[in-house]
Amino acid sequence: MTDPLVRVEDLQKYYFEQDSLVDRLLGKEPESVQAVDGVSFDVREGETLGLVGESGCGKSTTGETLLRLREPTDGAVYFDGENVFESADLDEFRKRAQVVFQDPFSSLDPRMTAGQIIREPLDVHGIGTKAERRERVEELLERVGLSAGQVDRYPHEFSGGQRQRVGIARALALEPDFIVCDEPVSALDVSVQAQILNLLEDLQEEFGLTYLFIAHDLSVVRHISDRVAVMYLGEVVEIGPADEIFENPGHPYTEALLESVPRADTSEQGREVDPLAGDVPSPRSPPSGCRFHTRCPYAREACKRESPGDYDVAGRADHQAACFRRVEDHDYWDSPPLGEDEQVAEGTADD
Ligand code: SF4
Repeated sequence: MTDPLVRVEDLQKYYFEQDSLVDRLLGKEPESVQAVDGVSFDVREGETLGLVGESGCGKSTTGETLLRLREPTDGAVYFDGENVFESADLDEFRKRAQVVFQDPFSSLDPRMTAGQIIREPLDVHGIGTKAERRERVEELLERVGLSAGQVDRYPHEFSGGQRQRVGIARALALEPDFIVCDEPVSALDVSVQAQILNLLEDLQEEFGLTYLFIAHDLSVVRHISDRVAVMYLGEVVEIGPADEIFENPGHPYTEALLESVPRADTSEQGREVDPLAGDVPSPRSPPSGCRFHTRCPYAREACKRESPGDYDVAGRADHQAACFRRVEDHDYWDSPPLGEDEQVAEGTADD
């Protein structure tokens, strides 16, 4: 098995709200939004790990925090064995770990040409002469399916798919090892999505890239991922090989997400659970115990009291789910089912 290039350990990202004068006088603690709460996973060299979940589950915050685009509240991220959060010099990490953002229009400066945008990382890191940078930019434009003749065009002169190609070329400029792809195709027309996914796969093969691929669209994630991690309300609730996750999900939330995907074949029999109902509870006051208990059709009293650990699914150590139903001898099985009134979420997530 290949060593992990990225190891995320117990990552936390909380946002603390401004406390009012009255709150301070009353001695009240400022409220926190627990956007990411104790997330751990590895990304192995050369693989694509898909990170999925509903809006507001913390998947983009996870990607941004592990790249140190946001400062973590707690936890550690090891990149090639070095703790990124303890490093005073991020220069090398910034060269080797890049990001492709969701919206190619807002992530590209409208006042800069494609050439300037792609060249910027080379300028910042002082790589190459002026002529060498120009040559590198033209090479990158062609590698992502654009032409060197488009080097002086501005973002508004490109289509959505072409703009995303410019964003990918910028991410490749420093020859990175690892790219966080944060919903890279969700702002694009369906017809263009496949072209960008194919481009990302070709680039991965050619340059040996490692991807963390963040998306809410399960069909996209299935297409591109070797393994998948499922997030719910700031936590990873299931992780495993992509085929296993889709064919044999071990967490009721994953089952419900899969059941929510529209299917062309209406004759197909559904799984045991109903499609996902209700909104994600607010990360300001996440439910006690298993955070999914307010929406889970299998929830029992034990789920409200206790937070589940990560348990093997079908005896596989490479497939784990945070659900008591994966453990034969847990108190869960003897505790009474939760009433409907206890399954109503208070408040909803704001992404
Ligand atoms: Fe549902 Fe309980 Fe499993 Fe959580 S631990 S997913 S509430 S059955």
